[in-house]
Amino acid sequence: MTILPGSTLGVLGGGQLGRMFAQAAQTLGYRVHVYEPQAECPAGAVANREFNALYADAAALQEFARGCDVVTYEFENIPAAPLEQIGSLTRLYPRPGVLEICQNRLREKTWLRREGFPHVPFAEVTADGDLAAAVRRIGCPCVIKTADFGYDGKGQQKVTDEAALERAVAQFAGQHVVVERFVDFRCELSVVVARSAAGESRAFPVAENIHTNHILDFSIVPARVNEAIRREAEELGRAIVERLDVVGLLAIELFLAADGRLLVNELAPRPHNSGHYTLDACVTSQFEQHVRAVCGLPLGSAALESPVVMVNILGDAWQWSEGKVVAAPDWAALLADPKTKLHLYGKKEPRRGRKMGHFTVRDADVAVALERARTLKAALLAPATRA
Ligand code: AMP
Repeated sequence: MTILPGSTLGVLGGGQLGRMFAQAAQTLGYRVHVYEPQAECPAGAVANREFNALYADAAALQEFARGCDVVTYEFENIPAAPLEQIGSLTRLYPRPGVLEICQNRLREKTWLRREGFPHVPFAEVTADGDLAAAVRRIGCPCVIKTADFGYDGKGQQKVTDEAALERAVAQFAGQHVVVERFVDFRCELSVVVARSAAGESRAFPVAENIHTNHILDFSIVPARVNEAIRREAEELGRAIVERLDVVGLLAIELFLAADGRLLVNELAPRPHNSGHYTLDACVTSQFEQHVRAVCGLPLGSAALESPVVMVNILGDAWQWSEGKVVAAPDWAALLADPKTKLHLYGKKEPRRGRKMGHFTVRDADVAVALERARTLKAALLAPATRA
């Protein structure tokens, strides 16, 4: 079943991922409706229609779903009931069962273990369970993570010794958590894979990701690992997408452990921050590929046209004084660079740690692109450069 250009695509969630999805869909001639509880969201600003209502608002959901030929989502924290309702009224991809697994760490890890995919050893601790015993079983250092939704390091605590364990026991008291071995990794990688309803799948080139304070800072493509590892990551990604029966996109975050093994850290059934580089450096972007996949169009080429480095721009890049923004970053150097593209998400209010935009730097030599990216980022953050 092909959903042809001119049809209406719905997206649950109105953040930057929904915005870039909507822009890609509109480039292919689709109309886009966005459902997002908060008004004036980044995706709503570019959508053909914006629904601002709660996920518990069955009447609004019904009107939204009835107006869409297919619905997808741009974030994972969507309750089951609205998905069920939408699924009964129109097509919904990736199927809700995929989201159910990916929106809960414990379910995700249990699924990886059951299906035999390489993952970080973990132990489950129920709300009334013995956290200290689980930490001793897994061994220190380890990381405690809430079983339920968490992102960008939220709800996580590293435990390195008895004192930290004591603090963690108090902090996570009464919570359902996962205790995970701390991985001594060489680097973090990710691969975004698209799969169509016809079963065709395509992986984007593997990205190497550098996080700062648990938030993605730089994505480097191609990842600076050998070809065999890149191929292994892509094959692993494709195998997971097949096994999960995904229609749409799935991002797979991986650790390359010190012993050379790839371990799956997280799955996200949607476009991913580490795939933003595809907008400027691939024949088809992850957003266009997502549109193609959920509409049953042939998938586009995921080939890399140039090595590239993507840098996130957080609200921290604004000039702050006593908790208030006093000046926007100076975009001049970014805008003047012939190999750089700036993407801003139209968010009105910068906040520390909030993703406001990103930029990409291309160069035939990825080391040169990384160096340039670091220089441009430093210039953005340096108040001295501001007029
Ligand atoms: P997550 O929210 O699970 O993706 O974790 C955010 C970041 O924390 C990861 O990208 C890693 O940089 C770090 N991290 C999470 N879990 C581990 C682990 N088991 N070992 C080492 N680093 C971790």
